[in-house]
Parts: sequence; structure tokens; C-alpha cells
Amino acid sequence: GKPVCECYDCYGGTDCSELSPGCAADADSGDPIFLEPFWMQHATESAVVISGWHRMSYRYADYTTMSTQLETYIRKLHSVVGNAVTEGRYLVFGIGSTQLLNAAVYALSSENSSSPSNVLASVPFYPMYKAQTAFFNSESFQFEGDTNSWQLNNSTNNMDVIEFVTSPNNPDGELKKPVLGGKTIYDHAYFWPHFTPIPGPSDHDVMIFTLSKLTGHAGTRFGWAIIKDKDIYEKVLNYISFADLGISKDTQLRVLKLLKVAIEGDGKPLFRFSYKKMSDRWDRLTSVMSKSTRFSIQQRHPLHCNFFNETRLPSPAYAWVKCEREEEYDCGAVLEAGKIIGRTGSSFSAEDRYTRLSLIKSQDDFELLLQRLTVLVSLENGSI
Ligand code: PMP
Repeated sequence: GKPVCECYDCYGGTDCSELSPGCAADADSGDPIFLEPFWMQHATESAVVISGWHRMSYRYADYTTMSTQLETYIRKLHSVVGNAVTEGRYLVFGIGSTQLLNAAVYALSSENSSSPSNVLASVPFYPMYKAQTAFFNSESFQFEGDTNSWQLNNSTNNMDVIEFVTSPNNPDGELKKPVLGGKTIYDHAYFWPHFTPIPGPSDHDVMIFTLSKLTGHAGTRFGWAIIKDKDIYEKVLNYISFADLGISKDTQLRVLKLLKVAIEGDGKPLFRFSYKKMSDRWDRLTSVMSKSTRFSIQQRHPLHCNFFNETRLPSPAYAWVKCEREEEYDCGAVLEAGKIIGRTGSSFSAEDRYTRLSLIKSQDDFELLLQRLTVLVSLENGSI
């Protein structure tokens, strides 16, 4: 007979419960769909409807009220989570945090120096820092790569540096610290209780956050920067004005609605849900990986979390997998042969002996990933 419904990509059989044997687990992208079930539970409160005639203008008194209210929510959120100091700081909205990363580089680069500022990050680092800095091809800044190699090769003490400090880090989840002692941009995309214990409020000159990894709404394209210094703030604001005359008011309205739900009950419903999801995934992942000598994943160290008021292990967004066998220097290829797609170490300027696996996708994606890993590890132990 005719099938009653169509199954998702990797499933077949009459009730879609059979996994297609040839199907690969895609753990490549960092799309944070793991929070979708939370928003299904809060569908009504988080919905936004905008009439066609409403809020059409570039400027309207309502907008300023709305943007001010959004700022208030963001400050409230940081205060209940305890992850960033916002008192007496300036806030700038951006199209995702992606736009603010470059706006911050621009704002921190020295205008009057004849040589460009040096932009650096510590390996392994998020590839966008390098890609953006190269793409904008500015006279004021240039990408200089890894902080450690820079330290070795620069005895001249050239302090005109802008260092990206990604904390927790993408790909390995480490709470990074600056190493060069110059200007810093703290990328706090993952500094939320679902991914890391919050040891205390971050208190730095330039801190960048994103809605993407907080509520999972990556497609909304919304981020914000918290800035201490007025001059830097004005430069970042200028950048946003010249690039796009401000951030979409429709977007801001949606973010307002989402954050309203996020700060309900002092953030407990959202972060309990998200932490449970991530820690369950890590429990199951570590249980599989503990049986392997062929693959290892990053060590996790317990820390006191001020938000949950207890000591917890981090549950990072990504597993940073290392292939331990001497001859398996291309870890991506090894995993791919086991029908697992990750992102290669070299994408993060690290060795290909490492591969990043995303743990923040849908439950189906995670289940398939875990199945494929279980098979790989069982093969190694000769149990199947
Ligand atoms: N910083 C880091 C470390 C990231 O991993 C990401 C997204 N993967 C971003 C910034 C950018 O996110 P968005 O532009 O969606 O805010």
C-alpha cells in the first residue's frame, strides 16, 4: 500500500523507526536546535504577530521604547545569570554576534598608526575571526594567527594587538584567558549555564554575546556587545549605523518576546531545561567514549556555578575528538568511514588529528551520532 507518511532522512520502515544503514550522522554544524522542544512548550507566550501596517518607519517613538525595553531585559538576564557586569556599561545590538566581532576589531584598531593592528586568537579557534579579518582587508588591522606562535616570533614587544578570547571556546569548550596582554574581545557566545558552570560575572572592556547559543534562535540573527569605554562604544555604534542603519525592529520585537520568557522565574525554567539536555547528552557520550582507546574527547573539570549554586561539570556545545592511533592522523576521514560527519581540526587552525562534533543539534541528530559512535567503539573492542 501507499506509505501513510514520509520518514525523515535517515529513517524508514512502516512507522519510520528503522534507521537506514547507509545514513551518516551529521554532526558538522553548530545549529542550536536542541532548544526547539523548550520553545514548543512555550509556543504561545513566545509568539510574535505583527500587522502589516505596524511599525513601518525607520524611526518611531515606539521603537526607542522597544529598544530600551530590550536593553533592560538583556541587563536583567545578565544579572539573574550572573555571567556579565552590565552596570555602567554601554550596549550595542548587532546582526548576530558575527557583525559585532568585526565591529569590535574595527573599533579597537588604532587609526593613526601607520601599521595595521595585529588580530590574533589561540589555537584551536573559531574560523570566522580569521575569515572576517581577511575578508574586510582593512588598512587598520590584519590577522596574525595563533597567539602562541606570535609570542615566540615577536621579541620586539609589539603591543598593538587585538586578541579574541573565546570563553568557553569553540571548538573545545575551554574557559580561555588572554595570553598577550594587549586589547581583548571576549566572545562569550557559549557563556551560558547550559554549556558551562558560571564561576562569576565577566568584567571586561568588550564582551560579545549572541541570542543564537542562548535561546537557540540562530536564524533571528541577533547579538549584543557590552562595552566599558565610551569611545569604543561610539565606534561600534558608528559601524552598525554605516553598515545597516540599525538592527531590524521586527527582529528586536521577536528577541524581546523570547527574552521575556527566558527571564521568567529568574531564568530557572530555561536553564534547567537546557542544562539537563546538554548534561544528558554528555553523560551518554562519555559513557560510550570511556570504552575507547582509539578516540578521546576533551577533559572536563568541575567548577562552582553561581547560577545553579553548586559545583558542576561543563557540558560544552561540541565534543573535540582526538584520534589516538599514530597512523590515524586524519580523524575526519576515520569518522567518516564510520558514517560520522564532523568538522576537521584544520578548520580551527589545529591538527586534523582532531575533529569537532556538534552536540547541539536535534535529538534525532544526536541519537544517530551516538549510535554511529557506539558501533565504532564496539568494533574497536571486537564486541560486534
Ligand atoms: N562566536 C562563536 C564562538 C561562535 O561559535 C558563533 C556561532 N557558531 C558565533 C560567534 C556567531 O554566532 P551568531 O552570528 O549567530 O551570533
